[in-house]
Amino acid sequence: MPEEKPGYDDTPIIPGQTWKVHDKNRPQPRVVTPGTASTQDKAGAPPSDAIVLFDGKDLSKWTGKDGKAEWKVENGYMEVVPKAGSIRTKEQFGDGQLHVEFAAPSVVKGDSQGRGNSGVFLMGIYEVQVLDCYQNPTYPDGTTAAIYGQWPPLVNACRKPGEWQTYDIIWVGPRFEGEKLIRPAHLTVIQNGIVVHHDKMLIGPTTHRAVQPYKAHPPVGPLELQDHGDLVRFRNIWYRPLKDYDEA
Ligand code: MG
Repeated sequence: MPEEKPGYDDTPIIPGQTWKVHDKNRPQPRVVTPGTASTQDKAGAPPSDAIVLFDGKDLSKWTGKDGKAEWKVENGYMEVVPKAGSIRTKEQFGDGQLHVEFAAPSVVKGDSQGRGNSGVFLMGIYEVQVLDCYQNPTYPDGTTAAIYGQWPPLVNACRKPGEWQTYDIIWVGPRFEGEKLIRPAHLTVIQNGIVVHHDKMLIGPTTHRAVQPYKAHPPVGPLELQDHGDLVRFRNIWYRPLKDYDEA
């Protein structure tokens, strides 16, 4: 005799779903073993089902402007090599959960947009700003964790230059039907454990001193890290695709 599953089959259907309340036949959530948190000294471990994009050892999952990603890798992190260009993942992603850690240069140099500037480009198009905004004012929609040129973060959650910081980003890409935008992109960003964007709607691709409308693109794209000429470091980068977003 198969073991009786816990739950019910004499309950009403949940409105908008195909399952009954406490449905015993509803599939169990998949098991994922959580990772461990990072410390200033050491990167943590990703959850068991994460796609690891950078584990501190090499840039084998990344490409650069002339093919190879030419950023420096040492001591478990990568560092921007100015003029080497932005780097992007070979793999392409759609909706998902992204974890990135970064550190602004500990030697403070420049101000406003000229201090510790880099960026996390979702799908290679939409930037979450990386900047050193610890006691460094800039235009608000260009602050650390800003959706650049569109939305300032809810708060300034920056750690000091040189300290490791975390972004946890939940990305829901735009939907197109042919050339037509059906639904804009949305994202949630948690910086250093603090919500800085909550399900924010993007107005279009990232640009500078301008507004740009959406232009249809594939449902997946690479993750890109920006070379803005500053010696920003990154470590512990991983992604968890959220394929079921529309059905959830
Ligand atoms: Mg930037």
